Amino acid sequence: MNGDAARLIERLDGGERLTAEEFRRLLEGSDEESDALLRDKAVARRKAVYGNAVFMRGLIEISSYCKNDCLYCGIRRSNRNADRYRLSEEQILACADEGYALGFRTFVLQGGEDAYFTDERLVPLLLELKRRHPDCAVTLSLGERGKESFQRLFDAGADRYLLRHETATKYHYETLHPPEMSFERRMACLRDLRAIGYAVGAGFMVGSPGQTEEHLANDLFFIQDFQPEMCGIGPFIPHRDTVFAHEPPGSAALTCRLLSVIRLIKPNILLPATTALGTVHPQGRELGIISGANVVMPNLSPVGVRKQYALYDNKICTGEESAQCKDCLNARMRAVGYEIVIDRGDPAALPQLNSPPAS
Ligand code: SAH
Repeated sequence: MNGDAARLIERLDGGERLTAEEFRRLLEGSDEESDALLRDKAVARRKAVYGNAVFMRGLIEISSYCKNDCLYCGIRRSNRNADRYRLSEEQILACADEGYALGFRTFVLQGGEDAYFTDERLVPLLLELKRRHPDCAVTLSLGERGKESFQRLFDAGADRYLLRHETATKYHYETLHPPEMSFERRMACLRDLRAIGYAVGAGFMVGSPGQTEEHLANDLFFIQDFQPEMCGIGPFIPHRDTVFAHEPPGSAALTCRLLSVIRLIKPNILLPATTALGTVHPQGRELGIISGANVVMPNLSPVGVRKQYALYDNKICTGEESAQCKDCLNARMRAVGYEIVIDRGDPAALPQLNSPPAS
């Protein structure tokens, strides 16, 4: 076993903070034994906080229109081949009603940065969603907006906001985005969301073009510093109509290792085993859960539009009805010893952060 990596894992598990350089050594020193140690520690921490519960979030992909031109993304505005759609308020509410009946208690409204979804349209939608389902949490994932807009949506009932930082290294960010997008603005949005009172989700792609272990170490350091309530990470997957069409996808194994490290950085973090992870590996979501993740995000979008929300090629779960998606994930979670629960899935308190886990 790589002794340096093992010592760093022990220190992280003991509640110590690591430097970016130490995170880099931890990733670089990976071998079979240190990976097993990392996974065992992460699973023990996860079990101490959340038992074997897996939270589910119903993902409603409300629009594939986007004004941004992120180089990696299949719904970037310059992709003329993208089939665009947006859901009506009635369709979104119907997805949520169906999800509620299936046991979902969190709805995630995600989409491209579509100018149609102004505050004037979103506020009544949020009010109605919360009126119908007051026991549910609503998460927004609609990209960058102004602080006032974030505040209005929060006041209308949005509880959480997912805005992946994508990469914590400024020059790497600039190679993945067009010049009009700004690393500083992305980070400022995350701080605004936090200041308003949202539960905030950051996150990054694993294996995005040009990414090095140093960049990933910066991502881990950022997560440790910002302490988001949620962290979405998944492998980069090429999309045929983007400039990165021929880049290799990120690895499932590295994604799982990073999930374990993030679990140790913040034992009560909400950490999804993402659809992208399930796309690069047939058992990706199960592997994510047994590496320390505790959230899955089944698709609740109308089946008729699912293929159009194509951020990357070969996305899974675009053909099934919502109920089938949920049943399939339930069976997958049970097969590895976990149980999907009917719960909002808020962050748990951390009674014993620095003491050894009970199990
Ligand atoms: N527009 C919103 C949310 C939609 S995109 C926003 O900007 O936050 C959701 C996430 O999908 C992105 O944050 C990105 O990390 C991920 N994504 C986009 N293209 C991808 C690709 N080709 N492979 C893997 N993940 C991708």
